[in-house]
Amino acid sequence: MPETCLAAVLNGSKNSLVPAFSRLAVLILIAALASTSCSVRQGGAMHAQAVARARKYDLVDVRRTVPGVQIDLRYGTRRHVAGRALYPAGMPCLLRQVTAEKLRRAQAMLAAQGYGLRLWDAWRPPEVHLLLLHYGGRTGMFQNIEGGWSRHSGGLSVDATLVDQSGHEMRMPTGFDEDFEHAGETYTGGDPDIARNLTILQRAMRAAGFSTVAKEWWHFDDADFVNQGQRVIYASELGIPVL
Ligand SMILES: [Zn+2]
Repeated sequence: MPETCLAAVLNGSKNSLVPAFSRLAVLILIAALASTSCSVRQGGAMHAQAVARARKYDLVDVRRTVPGVQIDLRYGTRRHVAGRALYPAGMPCLLRQVTAEKLRRAQAMLAAQGYGLRLWDAWRPPEVHLLLLHYGGRTGMFQNIEGGWSRHSGGLSVDATLVDQSGHEMRMPTGFDEDFEHAGETYTGGDPDIARNLTILQRAMRAAGFSTVAKEWWHFDDADFVNQGQRVIYASELGIPVL
């Protein structure tokens, strides 16, 4: 909230008949709004700077490159294994240019069938991957770096699910980063709707140039880079703070 607005509200409340505790509640609310507004502004500035720096590493803003895609970066929320946000407000969703173009093809194929993609993760800074290993290492959900960095860290992988035209998530084998025993690429649960939804997602992603992995139905790699080395890009290189 601009300082002038803050002053006006404070002055207005001074001479009113509002009880002291109500004025205190108003002040707390104002402080919260000012803080939120400030973090949104900072997030916007960080986002713009990170997207600009990302070009040097051939990473592009997925929101701009893939029309219609939904983005719900779960590591920017509490809804994952760490239970707290690891991405800051304004975290950009980035992928290598060629990978983003494949994703655009997959999104277009799905849109023609009345569906779309929701992304749960794309480029994942190595700093965040290490935090996820710390919090979720025992689950086996996160690749140990002894075998090399995750391809997310090079902007070559996405975690995605299927949504309908209204943006509602279709039923899938498991939630994101959940129930690893039942999260394989081949669904064996016996529910025909889930099997059909998974097939629709996998067909579009494979046709667009992605490959699947055995243990995670939501994970897709750019097939052209599966057997190649990669350049990982750190959050610090893009000026992104890790929380
Ligand atoms: Zn993944």
